[in-house]
Amino acid sequence: MEPKAEKRAFEYAFGGPLGVLGIMLALPLAINVMILFGICYNEDGFAGILERLNGFFDDCWTALWCLLGWFLFQAVLYLSPLGKDIVGLPLSTGQRLKYRCNGFHAFVVTAGVALIAQFVLGLQLYRLFEIIWPMASVACGLCFALSVYLYIRALFRRTDELAQHGMSGNHIYDFFMGRELNPRTGKFDWKYFCELRPGLIGWIMLELSMVAFEYHTTGSCSLPLVLLTAFHAWYVGDALWNEPALLSTKDIIEEGFGFMLVFGDMAWVPFFYSSQTLYLVSARPDVPWLLVFISIVLHLVGYVIFRQSNLQKNLFRNSPNDPRVKAWKTIPTSVLGKNLLCDGWWSFVRHPNYLGDLLLAMSWTLMCGLDSFYPFIYCGYFFALLIHREIRDEEVCSKKYGDAWKEFRTRVPYRIFPFVF
Ligand code: NDP
Repeated sequence: MEPKAEKRAFEYAFGGPLGVLGIMLALPLAINVMILFGICYNEDGFAGILERLNGFFDDCWTALWCLLGWFLFQAVLYLSPLGKDIVGLPLSTGQRLKYRCNGFHAFVVTAGVALIAQFVLGLQLYRLFEIIWPMASVACGLCFALSVYLYIRALFRRTDELAQHGMSGNHIYDFFMGRELNPRTGKFDWKYFCELRPGLIGWIMLELSMVAFEYHTTGSCSLPLVLLTAFHAWYVGDALWNEPALLSTKDIIEEGFGFMLVFGDMAWVPFFYSSQTLYLVSARPDVPWLLVFISIVLHLVGYVIFRQSNLQKNLFRNSPNDPRVKAWKTIPTSVLGKNLLCDGWWSFVRHPNYLGDLLLAMSWTLMCGLDSFYPFIYCGYFFALLIHREIRDEEVCSKKYGDAWKEFRTRVPYRIFPFVF
């Protein structure tokens, strides 16, 4: 039993147990509502939904087998000899673990298999889109089931294998935050695997099924639909290409693996992040050429800022002896081996990587035109997510680095948007 004083000192995030309970109930609902509204843009409107409702439960079985097969297929690729093993950074428990780094290989092999399935074996990819609603519902259920498994196994772990954020002693809160830092079954690292593979690659598969659906039903595909899918595939391919960067993220180093990450990685990303593409395939809006052009430019600018700033910080943190790093302006701190980078994009705003990501989100939204509020929901959510994340990170860094962080704030006054925020 933990002493009472320690329990009182625990700092809850997300509004504590009640807040996370609300989030766990609201998010699956939000995904289902988003998909239903998205489908409604189809010419059939509510009639289309009623038609889908007919076979909903039968489709749930098909969806279940599809999702389990998908997870297994990605797990086999993950455990295959493709790629190489790399050693991660020290975790909050002090451990350094080896990780199989072959996410990009998995992406390429999956794309190849999808092409063969579609064009050689005659399996119709568009059928996935036809069961997108049951798939989303079943994925939410599977995420709950996996989180329960992870929570139960964490009850049998030593305290030094647990994440700080998931040790409040409140079951609901710890179930949400995740108790075990790095759950592994043999060589299979549950968190590392789920972070970038089934959900992220699944997101692109879903969108390809939407492109296939449009082609199947109309005989052609609109330019915004093709471009948006290509932008998303680029974003995902880029994340997988830079897979080692995942090892320095908070998710890997500090967060336990519980409902928050399980659901975020495997239900929220594929089914909510594809909502703009769902809108394009359902509503088929006429997007003005000017907006398409602005969207392309924003995507390129956003990508350069996003990728370069993340690369700069990763190089700075992981290879402090690299000759390029030695020439950069930095602010010394009292934390051993951790100075603050104050050069390149990190002298422009304090979170340039968030700025790049937000420009990408704006680009994707404009690609859907201005006819409806629906594509703006993703954009609004993403702004809220990154601004909240920035505020949380600012508090953490301010506590960790004290005067050095104050100096950083003076030298780089804006957080994300120059002259605005
Ligand atoms: P960061 O990669 O910015 O990590 C924040 C940490 O970086 C800080 O806690 C601090 O950790 C270190 N840091 C901050 N400022 C400096 C500095 N000046 N010099 C050196 N180190 C510094 O944030 P995230 O992990 O949240 O995001 C990584 C990327 O992932 C971003 O591009 C973000 O946009 C993207 N992302 C995308 C999401 C999506 O759903 N698409 C969701 C979340 C993030 P320390 O000092 O301890 O090293």
